[in-house]
Amino acid sequence: MKLFIPGPVQVSDKTFAAFCKPMIGHRSGDFKKLYGGIQPRLQELFQTKQPVFLSTSSAWGVMEGAIRNLVGSGKVLNCMCGAFSDKWLDVSKRCGKDAVALQVEWGQPIRGEQVREHLKQGGFDAVTLIHNETSTGVMSPLAEIAEVLREFPEVRLVVDSVSSFSVVPIPMDELGIDVLLTGSQKALAMPPGLALFAASPRAMERAASVKGRGYYFDFIEFQKNQAEDMTPSTPSISHIYALESKLEDIFEEGIAARHARHDRTNSLVHEWIRARGFDFFAPEGYRSKSLTCVANNRGIDVAALLAELKKRHGFIIDGGYGKLKGATFRLSNMGDENESSVAELLAAIDDCLPS
Ligand SMILES: *Cc1c(COP(=O)(O)O)cnc(C)c1O
Repeated sequence: MKLFIPGPVQVSDKTFAAFCKPMIGHRSGDFKKLYGGIQPRLQELFQTKQPVFLSTSSAWGVMEGAIRNLVGSGKVLNCMCGAFSDKWLDVSKRCGKDAVALQVEWGQPIRGEQVREHLKQGGFDAVTLIHNETSTGVMSPLAEIAEVLREFPEVRLVVDSVSSFSVVPIPMDELGIDVLLTGSQKALAMPPGLALFAASPRAMERAASVKGRGYYFDFIEFQKNQAEDMTPSTPSISHIYALESKLEDIFEEGIAARHARHDRTNSLVHEWIRARGFDFFAPEGYRSKSLTCVANNRGIDVAALLAELKKRHGFIIDGGYGKLKGATFRLSNMGDENESSVAELLAAIDDCLPS
């Protein structure tokens, strides 16, 4: 079986081999060497001078943590345009925060002007944004939104890049992003269970003043331990080995070449969609580079397609997220996929599609 769902994605043999290395103590010199050794490359990838923290959790741990660390008695604006971003509002509320929804229709991006209209009302501590909404295949204009945030220096910008990290450039420091987070099992093509994040000095300052940060996701704890090349609690050391190996791959290919590869494989999928008479769920100019949400305008039996594809070719694609089930299907070009592997997927879908 091979995964072409938008997460978890296929994990390479090399990454798995690294994941399976023998354990070391998490307070040992060997661990500090491993942890400290990957920092420079992580910082380059995050395009930040700040340390990159590793959290043994899925992305949601840090998504919740960002709320608990950056939102005090002020409000949080949750930008919502799909399943993951919608859920962030609920998570903010469950953390007991005063959460405000900026909701657009699924399939549409978040625009800078909409963020400005909300922030103008005042009283906000933070904004949450999902750069690439994996459920709808929509990429919101991050630079445009970050620009708006500069008008509101008291508001912190939290960006989820789970399915866009290392796919397109995200210049964290240059854009003034306060927290940039990602997970291991999507764009980075590692097994699930690790989240990576960096926080601006402004974010850390805020965190230091916010009560009720808890322990496991307390950014200040991460910072204290980072100073000694360690994590607050025992991390998934296997993931860190896998990350070390993945960084080797990324820097061997080159970051710009990695971005270009995603662009090419994504274009292949786009050409196929047009040639087969399907529509895109996302509007032109706001389409994800790491996955494509295909609108089922042809009215095919999506469940039957998934079953045939699995049976005949061993490929797994996604049949639409939540309320989009059957009305869309999603094809991922994340991680290690290249032109030939994506072409192979598209040919296999052709083989299974009713003509
Ligand atoms: C998958 C995903 C998440 C959630 O990741 P978990 O690993 O389940 O915590 C968050 N945001 C985006 C954009 C995602 O695609």
